Amino acid sequence: MPLADIHHQNHAHRQVQRAISQGRLAHAYIFHGPDGVGKEMFARALAQLLLCDKAVEATLELSTDMKTIQQGCGKCQECVAVTNNTHPDIHSIYRQLIREHPDSALRKRKALELGVDVIRHFIVDKASFTPLRGKIKIFIIREADRITVAAQNALLKTLEEPPGATLIILLATDLSRLLPTTLSRCQVLPFNPLPDEFVRQTLSESQPDLLPERANWYARIAGGSMGIATIACADNHYDINMKLIEQLVSLNAQTSSGISRAWIEESKSMSSLFRQRDPDISDSEATRRGLLLLIKLSATWYSDILHLLANDEAGLINAHQKKLLQKASQRMSCDYAIGAIRRCSLTEYHLQRNANTQLSIETLVNDLARLSTGKQAISAA
Ligand SMILES: [Zn+2]
Repeated sequence: MPLADIHHQNHAHRQVQRAISQGRLAHAYIFHGPDGVGKEMFARALAQLLLCDKAVEATLELSTDMKTIQQGCGKCQECVAVTNNTHPDIHSIYRQLIREHPDSALRKRKALELGVDVIRHFIVDKASFTPLRGKIKIFIIREADRITVAAQNALLKTLEEPPGATLIILLATDLSRLLPTTLSRCQVLPFNPLPDEFVRQTLSESQPDLLPERANWYARIAGGSMGIATIACADNHYDINMKLIEQLVSLNAQTSSGISRAWIEESKSMSSLFRQRDPDISDSEATRRGLLLLIKLSATWYSDILHLLANDEAGLINAHQKKLLQKASQRMSCDYAIGAIRRCSLTEYHLQRNANTQLSIETLVNDLARLSTGKQAISAA
C-alpha cells in the first residue's frame, strides 16, 4: 500500500516527509499507537519509498494541512518486490520467528515473547550485512512491547549505531514495557486511533453483506482500530454481545450463578478462535482471553448506562439497544454504574495477573448482580 493511501495519520506523515526532505531520517523509530491503525502498513510504505528507484509525488487526501508527499512509484522492480513481500532488504521480525532459528533446540520453544535469540540472529547479526539489492536494510519489529529485557539489551548497540544503511522500526502499543535505554535510542512517532466513521465505511466496503447496524457497532466498539473491528467482525462479537446484554439485563441474585457458568462456557467455546490466531498460547490463556472480552463488553454496557444517566446519547456504543439500556438505567444510579465499571476493570487486572478464573468470574457476576439491582456490592470497594 503506498503512503498516500494511509489515512488519518497526518502527524506521522508530516514528521517522516520532513525528515526525508531534510535528509535527516532517524535510524530507529518507534511507531507507537493502538493495534490496527496502520503502523505496520506505514512502515512498509516508508520502506517502499526508501527502496524505490524513482520516488513520485502523491496527494494525501483527507488532509487539511498537507497535500503533497513523496512515496514509492509502485512500478519499479524494488516497489513491486515490496508489494509482493519478497524484497530481501525488508526484514519482518516477530516472536514466532524462533521456529526458523538455526538451533533446533530453540525452534521447539514457545513463542510467547520476543526473545533474545530472535533479536540476535534475525536483527543484530543481519544488520552488519550490506543490503542485498536495495540501498538500505529495513527491520520492522512487530509487537515490540513484547521484547524481553535481555533482548532489548542485546539490541541496544544496534539501535545506537546501526551498521551501514539500516533503518529499524519498532511497532508498539505500550511504551511502558520498553526500557528507558531503548526509548532514548529511538524517535517515537505517535499513531492516532482512526475516526469511527472511517472504520465503519472501510469495514462496510470490505464486507458488503454486513448489516449497517452491525457495521456501526463494530466501528464504535473498536475504539478507532481497523484491526480490532475486523477481528471482532470475523469472530462475530456482535452476537456474543447481544447474548451478554440479555444476561446482564436479567442479572440478579437468583440468576447470577447460572450466568457465571454461562460466561465460563462461552469463553471456552471462543478459545479455539484465540488459539487459531496465536497457536503458542495455552488453553487456559485462550479461555482467559475469552473472559476478558466478556468483561470488556460488560464494562461497555455499564458505561452506556452511565452515558444515558448523564443524557449523553451520542456516546453510546450499544445505541441499537436503547430500550434495554433505558430499562437497565432505571434500576441503577450513576454511583452503581461506576461501581460496576470499576469491578470489571479490577477483575480484568486480576485475570491478567493469572488469578483463578472461575472464582474471579463468580465474584464479579455476584457483585454486578447486586449493583444492577441497586444494592451495594460486597467487594466493590
Ligand atoms: Zn518504485
